[in-house]
Amino acid sequence: QRGLVWFRSDLRVHDNMALYRAVESCHEVAGVFIACPQTWQSHDEGDNLVAFRLACLRELQAALGERNIPLYFLELKRFEQVPQAMAQIVSKLQASAVYANAEYPLNERRRDQSVRQALREMEVAIEFTSDRTLVPPGAIKTNSGEAYKVFTPFKRAFIAQCGGADFSPLPAPRKRAAADWPGWLQIEGKDNLRQTIPATVKGYRAMPLEQGRLLGWQPGEKAARKRLKGFEERIHAYADERDFPGIDGTSKLSPYLSSGALSVRQCAQLALACNRGRWTGGRAGVDCWLGELIWREFYTHLLVAFPRLCKHQPFKLETEGVRWSADEQAFRRWCRGETGVPIVDAAMLQLQQSGWMHNRLRMVVASFLTKNLLIDWRWGERYFMNLLIDGDFAANNGGWQWAASTGTDAAPYFRVFNPYSQSEKFDRRGEFIRHYLPALQKLSDKQVHQPPPMAGYPAPICDVKETRKRAIEAFAALKK
Ligand code: FAD
Repeated sequence: QRGLVWFRSDLRVHDNMALYRAVESCHEVAGVFIACPQTWQSHDEGDNLVAFRLACLRELQAALGERNIPLYFLELKRFEQVPQAMAQIVSKLQASAVYANAEYPLNERRRDQSVRQALREMEVAIEFTSDRTLVPPGAIKTNSGEAYKVFTPFKRAFIAQCGGADFSPLPAPRKRAAADWPGWLQIEGKDNLRQTIPATVKGYRAMPLEQGRLLGWQPGEKAARKRLKGFEERIHAYADERDFPGIDGTSKLSPYLSSGALSVRQCAQLALACNRGRWTGGRAGVDCWLGELIWREFYTHLLVAFPRLCKHQPFKLETEGVRWSADEQAFRRWCRGETGVPIVDAAMLQLQQSGWMHNRLRMVVASFLTKNLLIDWRWGERYFMNLLIDGDFAANNGGWQWAASTGTDAAPYFRVFNPYSQSEKFDRRGEFIRHYLPALQKLSDKQVHQPPPMAGYPAPICDVKETRKRAIEAFAALKK
């Protein structure tokens, strides 16, 4: 029995359900990864994300190689080509079964259905396992059998349902006897199924890996496990420190969770072990971090319950009527970190320089764009996705819609963050701001949040009080 594991956003050997199922069921196992750069671009996945993914893939190939499991790589253009190519791969490798972990955005689900159909015609089974979330989307329902639309009741139901569940990670496969797999194969008429992972794919820039790091991030499963272990020492302080961008108070595991170099079960297990198995009522830091894993769960479950989220539509359909501003110049200033509002600008520079932004700042800049500048949340969602090394459709879409009040936020529409008070509260001494904006280096701790007119730094792009009023009116107009 020959099994093929189709890797996608699960680039690890430990606690990988599909890989585990394949090695349990088959004598010989190989893996395959199919790049579809045109589709990735249409999903706004940027250079950082793709370079990180490919670097994780190289690590995965080495880890699989140590176990005598070859990993093949195929570059196509679009998802639509995958079913036919997969049928050829399966047939040429003489695989009798395919194993993959489910992905939940709509286009990924459609692709998977088409692959299932193509393989069915060849009488080859494909098994999609639930691995990206702690429980499969759809498994947590209200009493009337519907999906939850608000986070807090979802969280309560999640804990009630999963409180005692076992999230123990699965072991990595042991070393297997070497099998006779071909070095390369012709697929779609080209000798393009190979055992080499390229530095980049068509349409993407090859990002330099300096000292093995991409923008300061060390790719791969080993680095992910090390970072998780390191976070164990800091998790207790999470509740107190997580909101301060100048402090390394969060786990910074998001790029690994997004590429699947780490599983959410590994995270949950570590935190639950620090909390005597409890999701709540334990240590504040641990409770709080587990809560974030439930946010991740919530947004992923929403994608399946509300496929319109994958079609650029708002969760609250009535907000489709908001009259967004089309001020492209203001948008560009926001992108470049030139709004004249230091906390917003410093955050945008953090994104540009590291491919990552602190969660508090993601909320601040998203509120600023969608409320103060009244620019469509989809512009911001797209820009983020293009730069984030941890880009995850569910979390990004959920975060943007939450900030724009078009999503699942239970608060009324007039939640508008004041960037200056956020700055004073969460970057009290302006350390984060000064790190990214040296022009403000010499200002006092008070002035650094709202600089006086000065050379070398722009005047604020807008008056936050007036634009707050404008945002409230724009949303109020929907009710008339
Ligand atoms: P920690 O605070 O250590 O949290 C641990 C993990 O929990 C994170 O790695 C992440 O997987 C998950 N998590 C934490 N907060 C959230 C949240 N609010 N929603 C969903 N999952 C969460 N997260 C992404 O992974 N990818 C994105 O593309 C993304 N885009 C966002 C866009 C906006 C506008 C906002 C407001 C939030 C976005 N987030 C996104 C959520 C959050 O900002 C990041 O997950 C977090 O900053 C990652 O840092 P960390 O790993 O140190 O998080």
